[in-house]
Amino acid sequence: MGLIVISNREPYAPKKGEDGTLTWTASIGGLTAALDPALQHAGGTWIAWGEEHPDVTEVDLPQGDPRYRLRRIRLSESEVREFYYGFANRALWPMSHYFIERAKYLASNWRAYVEVNRRFARAAVESYRAGDLIWVHDYQLALVPRLIREVLPEARIGFFWHIPWPSTEVFRTLPWDQEILDGILGADLIGMHTPEYVSHFQSACRRVLHAETAGDTVSWRGQVSRVVDRPIGIEVDAYEQLAASLEVEEAADRIRRTLQTQILLGVDRLDYTKGIPERLEAFDAFLDQHPEARGRVTLLQIAVPSREQVESYRQLRARVEGLVGRINGKHTESGWSPIQYIYRGVPREELVAHYRAADVMLVTPLRDGLNLVAKEFTACSRDGVLVLSRFAGAADELPEAVQVNPYHPSGLAEALTRALAMPLDEKKARLTRLRSRLRQSDLRAWADGFVAELAGA
Ligand code: UDP
Repeated sequence: MGLIVISNREPYAPKKGEDGTLTWTASIGGLTAALDPALQHAGGTWIAWGEEHPDVTEVDLPQGDPRYRLRRIRLSESEVREFYYGFANRALWPMSHYFIERAKYLASNWRAYVEVNRRFARAAVESYRAGDLIWVHDYQLALVPRLIREVLPEARIGFFWHIPWPSTEVFRTLPWDQEILDGILGADLIGMHTPEYVSHFQSACRRVLHAETAGDTVSWRGQVSRVVDRPIGIEVDAYEQLAASLEVEEAADRIRRTLQTQILLGVDRLDYTKGIPERLEAFDAFLDQHPEARGRVTLLQIAVPSREQVESYRQLRARVEGLVGRINGKHTESGWSPIQYIYRGVPREELVAHYRAADVMLVTPLRDGLNLVAKEFTACSRDGVLVLSRFAGAADELPEAVQVNPYHPSGLAEALTRALAMPLDEKKARLTRLRSRLRQSDLRAWADGFVAELAGA
């Protein structure tokens, strides 16, 4: 029995060396870290979009000690525009994060989405051997479970939706609401991050499809699917060890020595769901209310470039950078600027050094499927405070964080004050409790657990 994983992004990306040979390097991100070991163990196939060097359609990985096959789907430029930037990122993404005023529901984008989903499903059917388990990932590929089911009625198919599942009144704005639900319900086992997303999904099945639900099941077209909340974890031990390593401790010291103040840290893709402008405004209000904090607190914001082909993301960047300039212009004094802004992604070691150096981690998305940064900080910090939006999926699992409403600037400013003044004992006690909860379900347990449940489905 092998495993077939299907996701939009590929687990390893190719780079051409000077001699013309391709080197495949593991991609950064939770999905690769979770599923690459599972797939190496079970053997099988990973199907994904081959973005760079698309002429390579198949490769055995990892290089040098191959355990499974990567099948790469080639997308044309117009498909990337209409399927990926279009339907996935301008319709499903904003709708699922409650930003319906940003959603563009274009029929041409929908048609590209259907066509690309078909291509992924076809590749899965070709790779399938009797007894294989099939695990489809995320909002880019919601139709794939049904498309596979139509050809392989006996296959065991799992699906994981990694972003929020919104309330039905929001979901129903999607002109293809029935098709998306029907696509997902081709799976036997459907996973989401929180009980609330599961309950919204079941409510959509009842309201939109008139399907029957009972307990954790949905019955539709003669098939019963289970829908379960299984929040993804992180590699807790790996983060803890890296954070305590000499190199990282030294790098964290350098960050502290450079800034010479208490450090508030923000780490986000530059996405409108992450609440970065709201956070900056709250920090501005905090500095207005606390003149004594001038020169003593710095907000270090790492903003990772994202979806720059989409106009609204370019506008967001301009807005964020305008705010950084305005707030720095207003408060800077000799030798101190309140905001340090980094516009690039940083490698894991450097990121962990920032987690380690921070006094307060600000994770304040307006809406987030889960938020791994919150969990990573929790695993890495020695005595920092996590300030966490109640609208991040991870909030359910992290009750000892200082939870905030990111839409309320003065509430956010007040939480900052509390976090900065929290006694050391309390900070440590909160971190200990948070960490013990993280351990209960780390990344490997999440992947292995889902695969085992699917095998038993
Ligand atoms: N990350 C990174 N480099 C950076 C910033 C972030 O590698 O400079 C990683 C971070 O470690 C985390 C992921 O990007 O694992 C972000 O995941 P999250 O769930 O927080 O947000 P997403 O970007 O998936 O919406």
